[in-house]
Amino acid sequence: MTDPAEVDIALVGGGGAASLVLAALGPGPRVAVVDPVHKRGQDRTWAFWGSPGTFLDPLLSASWDAVDVVTASSRRTLDLQPLRYAMLRSAPLYELANKNTAAVRVTAPAHTLRDDGDHVLVGAPDGTPLVRASWVLDSRPRPPARPGRTNWLQHFRGWWLESDKPVFEPGRAVLMDFRTPQPARGVSFGYVLPVSDRFALVEYTEFSPAVLTGDEYDTALRGYAAILGLDLTSLRVREVEDGVIPMTDGVFEARPSPRVVRIGTAGGATRPSTGFTFTAMARQAAQIAREVAAGRPPVPDAPYPPRHRWMDAVQLRALDRGLVDGVGFFERLFDRNPATRVLRFLDGTTSWAEDLALMSSSPLLPMTRAAAGDAWARIH
Ligand SMILES: Cc1cc2nc3c(=O)[nH]c(=O)nc-3n(C[C@H](O)[C@H](O)[C@H](O)COP(=O)(O)OP(=O)(O)OC[C@H]3O[C@@H](n4cnc5c(N)ncnc54)[C@H](O)[C@@H]3O)c2cc1C
Repeated sequence: MTDPAEVDIALVGGGGAASLVLAALGPGPRVAVVDPVHKRGQDRTWAFWGSPGTFLDPLLSASWDAVDVVTASSRRTLDLQPLRYAMLRSAPLYELANKNTAAVRVTAPAHTLRDDGDHVLVGAPDGTPLVRASWVLDSRPRPPARPGRTNWLQHFRGWWLESDKPVFEPGRAVLMDFRTPQPARGVSFGYVLPVSDRFALVEYTEFSPAVLTGDEYDTALRGYAAILGLDLTSLRVREVEDGVIPMTDGVFEARPSPRVVRIGTAGGATRPSTGFTFTAMARQAAQIAREVAAGRPPVPDAPYPPRHRWMDAVQLRALDRGLVDGVGFFERLFDRNPATRVLRFLDGTTSWAEDLALMSSSPLLPMTRAAAGDAWARIH
């Protein structure tokens, strides 16, 4: 049996979070990636907001300084500056991750992480040692350590639509369009992310407890295309993108042992109230790269402050128990706050004062009932 590779950092799980770390790391550290799948090509599209001027800028397919939020009775255009909403297809990120380091690739599933306090031995399911590392960044999917009290899903299907004639407005992205029929329990919306006047991602999304069937997503997308006035007979569906992202107030363990750090969705980077994950993963990757460059351990700050996780738990509970109307809730949030405040809240970077302003814009009585319910559940 050959000795396992010796590295400074083993990325266990080589998907979105690990690719961002690989892309951000400078030369120097010896890195291994352990994943049964060597990620390449297009398997997802990330939409996220942030400030321009990062290493991701050259990889973006499109970005927008303003986005629309649409309801049956209104269309608000949210000015995002100095932030911007951006679209990154997975292929260029995986490519950059593959190019940027001379990482050892171990194309096998990892099973055990034996941490002796100085090193971590990554083992295969049959016990074969795969890699010995000073640090492990583990992004393998896993359930939360403490199960959620409210467990919803952000689930969706998107069509990449192509036309021979100009039908989309490239300068105009739709963040959330609530004119879709609303589910009995949950919130639904469509959105449109145009890359050019002939090519756009049109998606149907639900925040709700359970996924739909393939036919139900197709029906919902056809309905949304009709709302947009798109003639599907003159459009081609070039790609289909399905996804399910957890929205849970369960607690993810970020540091299961001294030299193992969880990143990505497994490390709690998915925002419970929306399913958005990318910005927190990118922020953590940039911090890990800075720490490593400074000769410090590759340990990022928590993806979100505890008070935001509490606010999300309350919001999820209020939506789940039917204490607030989903569309009304989001409408009110965007109506009563500057867009940048809402977006920075969703990224976990707002101050206490901004959080108080956000809370005071939510319907007081139902949210107080949800907060009381949350407090009761915590002590029982
Ligand atoms: C289709 C889709 C679209 C999304 N769009 C957005 C978006 O627009 N904006 C946003 O903010 N978020 C989005 N997300 C959510 C989130 O950003 C992504 O899920 C992101 O890829 C999460 O990164 P991750 O590294 O945590 O997980 P993943 O990217 O899923 O990576 C986990 C990796 O672990 C590997 N693995 C599994 N088992 C083992 C094992 N035993 N050993 C080793 N490796 C293992 C898997 O092969 C995989 O490569 C989307 C998710 C999906 C599915």
